Amino acid sequence: MNPSQIGPYEILSKIGSGGMGSVYLGRHRETGEEAAIKVLPATLAREEGFVERFNREIESMQKLSSPHIVKLFASGVDDGTYYYSMEYVEGETLTQLLRRERRVSWETAIDFGVQICIALKAAHDAGIIHRDLKPSNLLLTANGTIKLTDFGVAQVFATDRLTITGGIVGTAEFMSPEQAEGKRASKQSDLYSLGAVLYAMVCGKPPFTGNTALEVLKKHQYGLFDAPRLVNPDIPSWFEDVVKQLLSKDPAKRFPDAYVVARRLEQVRSKMQVLNSDTSSGMPSVDSETVTAGSGGRGGDGGPGPATLMKSLIRQELEKADTHPLLTSILNSTWFLVVMLMLIVVGGFFWFKDWSPSAEERFKQGEALLSQPAGDGWLQAREKYFLPLVQQDDARWKDQVAPYLQQIESYEQLAALKRDLRKSRIRKGVGEAAANEPRRLLLMALAQQEAGEGLRATQTVLAVKTLLAGDPEQAKLYDLCDRLLVELQPADKESDERYAWVKAALARADKQAAAGRLDEAQVIWKSITQLYGQDPAARTFVAQAQAALAQKAKPGS
Ligand code: ADP
Ligand code: MG
Repeated sequence: MNPSQIGPYEILSKIGSGGMGSVYLGRHRETGEEAAIKVLPATLAREEGFVERFNREIESMQKLSSPHIVKLFASGVDDGTYYYSMEYVEGETLTQLLRRERRVSWETAIDFGVQICIALKAAHDAGIIHRDLKPSNLLLTANGTIKLTDFGVAQVFATDRLTITGGIVGTAEFMSPEQAEGKRASKQSDLYSLGAVLYAMVCGKPPFTGNTALEVLKKHQYGLFDAPRLVNPDIPSWFEDVVKQLLSKDPAKRFPDAYVVARRLEQVRSKMQVLNSDTSSGMPSVDSETVTAGSGGRGGDGGPGPATLMKSLIRQELEKADTHPLLTSILNSTWFLVVMLMLIVVGGFFWFKDWSPSAEERFKQGEALLSQPAGDGWLQAREKYFLPLVQQDDARWKDQVAPYLQQIESYEQLAALKRDLRKSRIRKGVGEAAANEPRRLLLMALAQQEAGEGLRATQTVLAVKTLLAGDPEQAKLYDLCDRLLVELQPADKESDERYAWVKAALARADKQAAAGRLDEAQVIWKSITQLYGQDPAARTFVAQAQAALAQKAKPGS
């Protein structure tokens, strides 16, 4: 039977009940204000330390103010019954929505996810962790606003025992592995739960299910979930990446905070917009900031305004500054500076000594190294010959050396990116890597190349490159595709023949130049630059032609 009144409220009806008491719809006897009133089980009030926890949590929760957090009104004790009253949200819970619709579109999931992030960010900034983020704590209004309730309540119930009056502190299906293990919850624990909620929204089931709560908890700690795209192929892989990262077992591998998650979700939306809208040529630049600012909230109160935009710009800078902590620490090390100083002194000594052989000879030696297959020799050519030449006489050598330096840098970057790709392959083997679809495909291309299927590999890379075009987020990978293509071409017989023709032309031009027929040679070099300047696979020949042109353009050489 429902109580007829609790504290200053007249009880109108029972809304529902969960593991932590019952919720009633009530009306304030004096103000007439409607409220949802949560009554805590009496057995709980007798638990040691309960009253202190209750008061402490209520006090901090009262400070929370966000359009996406259910507002807490008041709390009290009535005849030994602890209760608190909050904003009554007319609508349904996410649980009810999912029960009816099974799942929602990824677009809706992103919309809800961003709103939840705004709520989490506000709470985390105030030092409050939710600890029990789950669909039944997400209330939806008719206009599509989502509000998070029961902030910090799990903490009120936290005792040294995991289960209380048959329920569980935190709900097994959405509980982080560290909570499942009985450890303290952190902001990152809420992010894990958010990942589980997003998963449930698009997949129609939580990442882990089981017959008992204990079984589910164990799965959170040690289990692998089905990839979201396996359950629902309509989900963009970028969305899957976010969900997978949120569901990392290691809290440190999740996102740094809810704000970053919101941004990433917004980016998925804008990337998909670009992908779906871009049929014209060129790379439409989508400013993710604009997207964040423009679509964050409904009714104009939820979205980040100009102040947030400023903050986010600063944050972006900070994040950038954070990317190379190793480099910064090296540069800050006194020893590093001392060694550098010594190198400069010693290097300077040899530089002034100006030893033989002549500059021209050294340039030729560099070129000879470059004519070998790409490898360490190329780096040597740069360090031993090309760079010293430029240092010695910048005006004389700059133009001739520049195309070679570019070629070497391309190779170096390719090598680094390949390493990077292979590393991500290893991590992926353990099931941890944020699977990145284009990267996976490029890895496949490398494997195809290794298996001697050069043409196949080239086709794979070309296809990935086509899909990446127009995505400003993936500009780096797009470049990598170009470099991989250079790398892959020689394995392909047909293009070998094609470039044999260019090679012969280059050799002819060299002979002509040597015989003093510079004009004829120049026509060939220019034609090669013109014909193959845009062909990444012909980069080596273009570089040679450009270097020759630059050299011959010098008066007196
Ligand atoms: P649980 O969150 O485990 O479902 P609760 O006791 O927190 O259990 O809530 C029970 C139900 O009461 C919720 O599922 C929801 O339908 C409803 N409810 C809770 N808070 C509110 C609120 N502020 N406004 C409207 N309905 C609410
Ligand atoms: Mg609840």
